Amino acid sequence: MFWSQFTSPPICHGLAQRNIFGVIAHRRYQTRKGFLAKWKYKYEGECDVYVCPQGEELRYGTTDRDGYRHYKSDPQQCETCPLLTQCTQNQNHQKTITRHVWEEDKKQVRLNRLSNEGSGFIA
Ligand code: SF4
Repeated sequence: MFWSQFTSPPICHGLAQRNIFGVIAHRRYQTRKGFLAKWKYKYEGECDVYVCPQGEELRYGTTDRDGYRHYKSDPQQCETCPLLTQCTQNQNHQKTITRHVWEEDKKQVRLNRLSNEGSGFIA
């Protein structure tokens, strides 16, 4: 069992690699006021795309050196979108969402916290 109040993809990945049951405290990240929260963009694993609140796909473009995969919207769709000002400030009307290559390991640690075994460790 591993308990921490900090969560990061490398820590979660390291736990998964070592078969350690990790529990990490929940932390709600602040969304910038007036902007759509990241959870409103759904990741579709089978197609490896994010789907925005308007039903448009953000497709994979590149992975940066820190292991974050970048998913980008189609600027032509975004330009006329009624949610544009709540979605992105990008000058080219393109929304980008990042997802770490070890995001699934992080998700598992989150699920551990909600399990019977994990719930006793977090106040
Ligand atoms: S601006 Fe683009 S990515 Fe954002 S909600 Fe509208 S269509 Fe979707």
